[in-house]
Amino acid sequence: MTTIELKEQIFSLIGKEEKRQKETIELIASENFVSEDVKRAVGSCLTNKYAEGLPGKRYYGGCEYVDEIEDLCRRLWQQVFHTDYHVNVQPHSGSQANLAAYQAVMTPGDTLLSMSLNDGGHLTHGSSVNQSGKLYNIVFYGTDANGYIDMEDVRKKALECHPKVILAGASAYARVIDFAAFRAIADEVGAFFMVDMAHIAGLVAAGVHPSPFEAGADIVTTTTHKTLRGPRGGLIFCKEELGKKMDSAVFPRTQGGPLEHVIAGKAVAAAEALDASFKTYGENIIKNSQAMAQAFRDMGYDLVTGGTDNHLMLLDLTNKNVTGLDLQNALDRCNITLNKNCVPNEQRSPSVTSGVRIGTAAMTTRGFNEEKFVAAAHLIDEVVTALAAGTFTDETAALVGEKARALIAKA
Ligand SMILES: *Cc1c(COP(=O)(O)O)cnc(C)c1O
Repeated sequence: MTTIELKEQIFSLIGKEEKRQKETIELIASENFVSEDVKRAVGSCLTNKYAEGLPGKRYYGGCEYVDEIEDLCRRLWQQVFHTDYHVNVQPHSGSQANLAAYQAVMTPGDTLLSMSLNDGGHLTHGSSVNQSGKLYNIVFYGTDANGYIDMEDVRKKALECHPKVILAGASAYARVIDFAAFRAIADEVGAFFMVDMAHIAGLVAAGVHPSPFEAGADIVTTTTHKTLRGPRGGLIFCKEELGKKMDSAVFPRTQGGPLEHVIAGKAVAAAEALDASFKTYGENIIKNSQAMAQAFRDMGYDLVTGGTDNHLMLLDLTNKNVTGLDLQNALDRCNITLNKNCVPNEQRSPSVTSGVRIGTAAMTTRGFNEEKFVAAAHLIDEVVTALAAGTFTDETAALVGEKARALIAKA
C-alpha cells in the first residue's frame, strides 16, 4: 500500500471509532468526551517540541512558549482545587503519576497499604502484575460484607505493618471516601497519606465530593481524562516540602520529555473546570447516577453498598443469574458500553465476574438527564432479562440497539 492509502486506512478507522462513540450509550465510568478545544490543543504543533525539565529550567532551547503554557497549566490546576500544593503536570498517565509518587517517598521494599484490586483498588496500587507490586511490600485493606471500605481493617493493618504510605482511592467504589479518617490513621502510625483521586477528581473540582486537599493529604495524584474531562494524562500534587523530590521522580527518574501538547490540553481542561458550568456538570453527574441507581433498585437489582454517592454504581448480578462478562458482551451488540466488575465475595474469576460497573460522567457530558439514564437502565434490564431466560438473540440486540440510538438522538 502507498503512504496515502495507509493514511486513508488509518483515518477511516478513526472515522469508524468516531461513529461508534456517537451511536453508543457510553457507561464506562473512566471515560468521558473532551471538548473541541481540548482536541485542538492536543492536536497542535506542541507535539513537535522537546522540553525536558521544568519551566525556566529546561535542557533545550526554544522553550519560552511551552514554559508559559506549563506554568499557566500548573496555576490553573491549583485554582481548580483551591490549593497551594506543589503541582507537577507532566505525568503521561495516572499510572505514571502513581509510579513517580511512590518513588518520591518510598524505596523498594517499603510497605504500601492500599485497597485491593478485587475490592475496587487500581492495578497500580500494588497488584502483583504491576511494578508497584513488584517493587514494594504491599498490604491490602478491603471492603466489608456490604462493600464499604472497612476503616477498622485499615487501622488494624496500619498498626500491624507500619506502612511508609497509606493510599486511599479506587477505580470501582461508589461511596464517599473518608479522607479525614485515613489522615488520622496515617498520623497515628507515622505514614505518608496519599490520595489517588483519578475517578472522582471532577467531582472534587465541582465541589460535590470532599476534597483530599482539605483533609491534608501529603500527596494527591489524578488522571485528567475521567470525570475531569481533559486529555489522557496525569497530575501530581504534593505538600511543598515534597516538591523537589516529586519533580525529580517524574523527570528524570521515570519519564523523559513531557508531552507539551497534552499539557496544553490539560490547561484547557482546567480552564473549563473553572467555569461555573463545571459545577452544574458535577451536580448533574451525581443526580443522574442516583436516579439510575434508584431505577435499578426498583427493578430488583442488588447494588454493592446499596447505592451511590458519586458518578458510578456497581450492579451485583448474582441474583439475576447473569455474569458480568455475558452482560458486557451482549450490551456491546446493543450500542451500550460498560464493563464487567468483581463484587464483594466474588465467586467467579476476574475475567468473568458477577457484576458490572456503570458510570454517568460521559453521558452527562452528552446531555443525558435523569429520565434518559432511567431509560438506559430499563434497556439494560431488557438485556439482563433476555440473557437470564436464554432468549437473547440478534433480534433482541437490534431492537435494544435501535432504542439506545433513539435515546442518544433525543439527548
Ligand atoms: C484510571 C486509574 C489510574 C490509571 O490511569 P491511567 O491513565 O490509565 O494510567 C490510576 N488510579 C486509579 C484509581 C484509576 O482509576
